[in-house]
Amino acid sequence: TVITSDIDALSREVQKFAEFKQQQIANLHLRENYRRDFLGNVSHELKTPLFTVQGYLLTLADGAMDDKKISKKYLKRANKGVERLISIVKDLDLISKLESADLVLNKEPFNILELVQEVFDLLEMKGKKRNVSLHFNKHYIFPIMVIADIEKIEQVLTNLIVNAIKYSKKNGTIMVSIEKMEPKVLVKVIDDGEGIKAAYLPRLFERFYRVDQSRSRDQGGSGLGLSIVKHIIESHNEQIFVKSEFGKGSEFSFTLEKEKVI
Ligand code: ADP
Repeated sequence: TVITSDIDALSREVQKFAEFKQQQIANLHLRENYRRDFLGNVSHELKTPLFTVQGYLLTLADGAMDDKKISKKYLKRANKGVERLISIVKDLDLISKLESADLVLNKEPFNILELVQEVFDLLEMKGKKRNVSLHFNKHYIFPIMVIADIEKIEQVLTNLIVNAIKYSKKNGTIMVSIEKMEPKVLVKVIDDGEGIKAAYLPRLFERFYRVDQSRSRDQGGSGLGLSIVKHIIESHNEQIFVKSEFGKGSEFSFTLEKEKVI
């Protein structure tokens, strides 16, 4: 009986090991497919603006250059294409840094109210250009100290507020609200812009996903902004949420760790 039970135990171990290896292989396949899809998406995304730029340059070389007014218009459009390429490459660079195995989060305590104000100051002009006003609940007298990688959270706030501006309506309002949700802090970016239909919400944080391709392109979007936001928040072990009503506006919110006061 000793031998049978030993054999049984051994066969169970072998079975477990085989299942583990099968799972490992399945994961590798998944990663390989994901990598292939990603490469396909990247080249597709780069191709569109590259062909646009090439088109304008060829037309200019074919004679459009002789007309000063047209040349100016085409050069401006070609430059827009180059700007889009730069924005895609910058975001890809950021993603590859974020996904590298040795990504270190430089967590430190900072006042989230101050960071929101700084991002507002940087984006004020962008908002004014689209006639959008930025508001912030400053009723807190004391600082709200959180612990996170300040540069990365600045990136998150920037991406969310830039989106709120990009997808705003004329004379829209953007509100950033910081709320205590013990033991966390909840940061909300609320806009009264075009909103997103419920059916599109589940895919919103995927790379290169856009609800409206042409609208996003017009706004100089890379389709990577929200995937970067999600990656940063999740690498902090925090959560990100989205609520939206089509035609009315959207609310993106994320949690942060509150600094413990000893
Ligand atoms: P993009 O560069 O296209 O803005 P993102 O990853 O930042 O890429 O966003 C993905 C898509 O989500 C956008 O193309 C847009 O359709 C939608 N979206 C993001 N933020 C908002 C918002 N505040 N209001 C409405 N739609 C939004």
